[in-house]
Amino acid sequence: TPLNLSGFGGLKWHRPLGLHHVLDLKARYPDAKLVVGNSEVGIEMKLKGIQYQVLISIAHVPELNFFRVKDDGLEIGAAVRLSELLDVLRKVVAERDAHETSSCKAFIEQIKWFAGKQIKNIASVGGNICTASPISDLNPLWMAAGAQFRIINCKGDIRTTLARDFFLGYRKVDLARSEILLSIFLPWTRPFEYVKEFKQAHRRDDDIAIVNAGMRISLEENGEKWAVADALIVYGGVAPVSLSASKTKDFLIGKSWDQELLQGALSVLEKDIFLKEDAPGGMVEFRKSLILSFFFKFFLWVCHQMD
Ligand code: FAD
Repeated sequence: TPLNLSGFGGLKWHRPLGLHHVLDLKARYPDAKLVVGNSEVGIEMKLKGIQYQVLISIAHVPELNFFRVKDDGLEIGAAVRLSELLDVLRKVVAERDAHETSSCKAFIEQIKWFAGKQIKNIASVGGNICTASPISDLNPLWMAAGAQFRIINCKGDIRTTLARDFFLGYRKVDLARSEILLSIFLPWTRPFEYVKEFKQAHRRDDDIAIVNAGMRISLEENGEKWAVADALIVYGGVAPVSLSASKTKDFLIGKSWDQELLQGALSVLEKDIFLKEDAPGGMVEFRKSLILSFFFKFFLWVCHQMD
């Protein structure tokens, strides 16, 4: 049953059971905070002292908790938990052609190193996206993989935006007060399209990244060689927002996938993703070397896939 509880200090907590009810509540309380796993909101309220007056738990809304396997990709409801996503991705990888699931494999690997089991069991895909943390492990991958976000407003109008256009600034996303994230569409990869995840943290398990990344390259045959048809190289932990290396992308497109490209790309990348000496987060030399070495690793990995 839907619940509606009042708490200390006038706090209101709603648990709607249908999307129309969520949208009604959002129309009535535009500043209401949506909650799924509460792993971000809980910290904000308990440790950062932020007071929200109205909380809407969307964890039990079926229209936000679904997977749809389509001809061109996988649609994922915004309230889906990371453990559930992991299970479905593993199933999809086992069932579909290998070339279609390069992105899925990258997500599986990245989720393995995402927090611990308890957090993965409650943290939602939409919660991670909408928090827009500059060190989110998944947002660089959604961007690189060409994911699309479906957004719905209180009137029920739906619009779609590319993940790479969604993150506007430090914890700022392209969502109006009247809008919520409805679902995420992850397209299948094509033959000779490769997606890979990267994360460096102090510990392997359950640790926040120092730098992370998501990279995609799409290759096509060009005579004897393989040329870059499309690319996206995205880093986390290097700026207030997950950052696409746009000059590096421009450099890569049309080039042959060879040693010369690697050397050229590394020198473009060094200037493209630039960390100032006093960049927040420190460890500047180390982070700079991670930025380059992730691309180096990606280059070698793609060559290996092509063998
Ligand atoms: P909630 O706290 O419920 O919500 C988060 C935000 O998203 C809120 O602002 C909420 O209003 C908004 N929101 C949720 N759903 C929607 C929607 N459908 N439309 C619009 N807005 C919405 N992150 C990493 O990237 N990598 C890690 O390794 C990692 N480790 C962590 C370890 C711990 C111990 C903790 C506490 C957090 C960690 N995080 C990590 C952060 C974690 O990813 C996010 O906290 C989690 O994914 C958010 O999901 P949630 O459902 O708990 O969000």
